[in-house]
Amino acid sequence: MESSVRTTTLPCGEAIPVLGQGTWKMGEDSRRRSDEVNALRLGLDLGVTLIDTAEMYAGGGAEEVVAKAIAGRRAEVFLVSKVLPSNASRAGVQRACENSLKRLATDRIDLYLLHWPGSVPLSETVAAFEALKKAGKIRHWGVSNFDAEEMEELAGLHDGGNVETNQVLYNLVRRGPEFDLTPWMRKRGIPLMAYSPVEQGALARNARLDTVATRHGATPAQIALAWVMRKDGVIAIPKAGSQEHVRQNVAALDIKLTPQDIADLDRAFPPPTRKRGLEMI
Ligand code: NAP
Repeated sequence: MESSVRTTTLPCGEAIPVLGQGTWKMGEDSRRRSDEVNALRLGLDLGVTLIDTAEMYAGGGAEEVVAKAIAGRRAEVFLVSKVLPSNASRAGVQRACENSLKRLATDRIDLYLLHWPGSVPLSETVAAFEALKKAGKIRHWGVSNFDAEEMEELAGLHDGGNVETNQVLYNLVRRGPEFDLTPWMRKRGIPLMAYSPVEQGALARNARLDTVATRHGATPAQIALAWVMRKDGVIAIPKAGSQEHVRQNVAALDIKLTPQDIADLDRAFPPPTRKRGLEMI
């Protein structure tokens, strides 16, 4: 199915949806497996073709759930996975990627991320990513949990300019990146992938969202998502284990926040006025 979901553009020129599907906590309980697979499949049916996973999630179990969900429809999907920093050496990245490909039952990962900065020199990890690109095992690479200074360091490395995204914690109660990271990335045309966009479900229960939600006949979770996706260059990747949540998250794409809504949300969830270290979950 042709995706009708709004897109943003990676530095390489490829368009990807501004709404994706997260998979953390999937694959942990076999009794939930079919619900998880069905939720991801419904997302694909509705055009949410970006799926985010990682070797870390359920010790590879989330990648196996993704494999089931994308079976027979790989071409529709923009697949994101991540390598742990403990596997970020030249040989470690190669091995981790092969293992992820096996679990995902595919021959390529569309976007492969370093999960967070670690002790392996970044230049070695970048060289490993570039080698995987040449071998056709990954199409693009990026990073996750990198603060502005770390992005700056990366940009100075050989091939470091090939970074396609930085996936970070960003939502209404985690606005720190707005101070320096999002401007840095915007200036360079690198989209930010916002993880935990509903603060792991907490924003769905936050009464400070009620006024704006009522105004739009929407749920607080939908407003939290619409807010994350309000500007071009930001991708939200909520995890939804139920079909109802998938439908609601897709519907959030149609919510147009007004200047009044934005002002109300700024009052309830103030933007940063000084540098804060990047938070991680
Ligand atoms: P999240 O997406 O903010 O929240 C997920 C929780 O919100 C789940 O409990 C889900 O419930 C609930 N939910 C989803 N849609 C909802 C809706 N419309 N209404 C009410 N509740 C809703 O948190 P997250 O899973 O931490 O983050 C999203 C994804 O980002 C992860 O799955 C993972 O892929 C990625 N991530 C990356 C990193 C990193 O270090 N790079 C860290 C954390 C997360 P149900 O499951 O019951 O639907």
